[in-house]
Amino acid sequence: MDEHKTLMELQKLDTKIDALNQRENNLPERDRFQSLSEEVGKTEGLNKAISKKLHDESLKQKKLEDELDSLTKKIDKEQKRLYGGTINNPKELSSVQQEINHLKGLADEKETALLEQLDVVDVLTGNDKTISDRLAIRKAELDKAKDEMDAALADIKAEREKLQAERGPFYNSLSEDTRQLYDRVRTKHPLAVTILEGNLCQGCRVELPSTEAERIEQSQKLEKCPECGRIIVKD
Ligand SMILES: [Zn+2]
Repeated sequence: MDEHKTLMELQKLDTKIDALNQRENNLPERDRFQSLSEEVGKTEGLNKAISKKLHDESLKQKKLEDELDSLTKKIDKEQKRLYGGTINNPKELSSVQQEINHLKGLADEKETALLEQLDVVDVLTGNDKTISDRLAIRKAELDKAKDEMDAALADIKAEREKLQAERGPFYNSLSEDTRQLYDRVRTKHPLAVTILEGNLCQGCRVELPSTEAERIEQSQKLEKCPECGRIIVKD
């Protein structure tokens, strides 16, 4: 195979490899994985904050319950004293009754506060469950997205390895000079190899002067487009 045909084949393969690299760099599966990662991160933060709030508010609830319990015990104790028959002094009885009334007033306040606190905890428990459920769903989506991204990347890698193996013999069969030329032009133009159609360079779409086009057509060595520098091959 002459160098012209070899260069054309090489370019075809490299163009496919370029497209794969491009696909790899702009992988929608990776975008999805990244946006889900962010979402999972945010949901985790929210979940943590609500769990902490629920924990704190549950402690407040517990404290109110303990206080109410303690008040109830005190009231019981005072009532036993009141009706126990051990106190006969009317003044003392009245003072115990007052104490009981005072404690009952406090207990009522605690009970109201406890009921409000139970509502707060109830709402937070619901929110906590909602966020935990959402987090579980997002995490499952993230796992799936990761699998899909990994699969897409593995496909690209396998395809690229196949193409690289195919390109090897073409590349290696070129002369050292041609290889260098091709590599050099490729750094500027991914599509390094082009043809003339009539006088028109298919690389840059510039019409070359007829004498120049004719000279290139007749040339025995590899020529470059004087406009864009791409290698001109003849089929
Ligand atoms: Zn050109």
